[in-house]
Amino acid sequence: MSSIPARWRDYLQFVFNPLLPKICFGCEELLVPGEAQLCVFCRHELPLTHFSFGKENKMDQALYGRFRFEKASALFYYHKTGALKQCFQYLKYRKQEQISTLLGQWHAQILSRDPDLPHLDYIVPVPIHPKKKQIRGYNQLSAYGKALEAALGVPFSENVLRKTANTKTQTSKNRGGRQDSSSSLYILPQPDKMAFKNILLIDDIMTTGATLSQCAAAFKDSEGHKLYVLCMAVVA
Ligand SMILES: [Zn+2]
Repeated sequence: MSSIPARWRDYLQFVFNPLLPKICFGCEELLVPGEAQLCVFCRHELPLTHFSFGKENKMDQALYGRFRFEKASALFYYHKTGALKQCFQYLKYRKQEQISTLLGQWHAQILSRDPDLPHLDYIVPVPIHPKKKQIRGYNQLSAYGKALEAALGVPFSENVLRKTANTKTQTSKNRGGRQDSSSSLYILPQPDKMAFKNILLIDDIMTTGATLSQCAAAFKDSEGHKLYVLCMAVVA
């Protein structure tokens, strides 16, 4: 580690050494005893959407006409800077899967109090390509999905959808200007299993909705299913 500047060495030790004090994933300040993963300040500052399943929101409006779905919701608003962005950096690029659990437990707590939450048969994550999973170590949605499963009693089914190519989903600069037509990026190997089921499709951050749209297209041969969409965050 001698080639690493001392500042970074200290930082890495704080993050990865279980014997040293932990830092907040939102602001990178040291946590005090009793705090875990996020400091009290960041916990209060993270921008909750307060979306409910009984009321139309901006996600619904953004997705109308793109694909057939019943309802969409998200836990947080995502901004280009700030504590939540830091959390996602740790989750996706610094092997801190515990953030996925934290967000899942948080979201489940809110959902379990929502009287309009429908009956759900499966929780299905947007898949990542096996090569990316190997690099990252996990699908960032797995622990989130498992936390939802544990709290809501709905089976989390990780292998329902498969990603066929290790490419980033094309995100349209002008969502009205291009069809989300490359449906073959995601496949549903067993469409009959999802027939007439209520499916909660989960993703991390909704930006244009292109990924969700392409996943929804993979359900085209699954008769009578209903799709619900749930994201950790939606771009504000
Ligand atoms: Zn903090």
